[in-house]
Amino acid sequence: MTIRQILQEHPVTVSCELFPPKEGRLLSEYKEIARNVAALSPSFISVTYGAGGGTSAFTAEVASEVERSGVPALAHLTCVASTRQGVQEALAALRARGIENVLALRGDIPKDAAFPLPGQYAHADELVRDVRAFGGFCIGAACYPEGHPESANRRQDLDNLRRKVDAGVDFLTTQMFFDNNILYNFLYRAQAAGIRVPVIAGVMPVTNGKQIRRICRLSGTALPPRFAAIVDRFGEDARAMRQAGIAYCTEQIIDLIANGVGHVHIYTMNQPEIAARIIGNLSEIFRKGE
Ligand code: FAD
Repeated sequence: MTIRQILQEHPVTVSCELFPPKEGRLLSEYKEIARNVAALSPSFISVTYGAGGGTSAFTAEVASEVERSGVPALAHLTCVASTRQGVQEALAALRARGIENVLALRGDIPKDAAFPLPGQYAHADELVRDVRAFGGFCIGAACYPEGHPESANRRQDLDNLRRKVDAGVDFLTTQMFFDNNILYNFLYRAQAAGIRVPVIAGVMPVTNGKQIRRICRLSGTALPPRFAAIVDRFGEDARAMRQAGIAYCTEQIIDLIANGVGHVHIYTMNQPEIAARIIGNLSEIFRKGE
């Protein structure tokens, strides 16, 4: 089933995210994680694409396992380290496995390489066009409520996003954010810029204080004072941080749904037990929105 259909038919959806292994010998372990997350019956499960294409071969394998478990899969696909021919081959491989949904991404620019090389992709809108021309895929893309770190300002980022959507995007998924007001503000601005496709709000249950500070530094994601205090107090204590992170994420989702943002993507980072706790905490809320 396409994600476009799922979003149209269900005012409230919850999806989860997995990442594939870096080594083939771990594949069976990761497929078991995929089955455990699928057992929670999320609306769909996305499978990331290794930075620089490193684990790309395994994205399709894990996504297939998700589909076999009865849950629609969304396969991420980055183009920064790909040729046009490579993208055509990756799309043909996804199609052969019956995967209908692709999240079309550029990927981060490699640090020690000239970019873009002649004939290669510079931005995700070019990939969106190629996936659309290939045909038969529901296409998602990324967006950044706080602006992408490469953009000079949010206005410029939104203009680029509009171009990307116009290239043929069916839905957007946001970068994680910890302050819902930032998302609400982004949604108003996206509407004003003429962006009409559904936006799925990406939230992350934080379980590691050090890691989240590093991720926020790199991605430009703000830690609001209320959440920064939680990370300061519990960040060094794994079990306490996990409990606080799940509670904070649960509250964030309740506030989103209460304010009409019905499509939520949880960055579950291959932790089925955390996904289970959050989805369990919200079972009645998700049911009410169906
Ligand atoms: P783009 O849309 O190309 O945007 C990148 C920058 O270029 C932005 O500043 C934008 O404003 C600007 N820009 C866009 N189009 C143009 C244009 N035509 N002309 C000039 N400037 C332009 N990374 C991975 O490696 N694997 C993953 O699986 C993965 N999954 C992700 C999922 C989500 C939901 C998100 C939010 C990010 C994900 N990323 C992933 C990270 C992503 O690859 C990086 O953030 C990357 O730097 C940008 O990718 P993009 O597709 O948003 O690029």
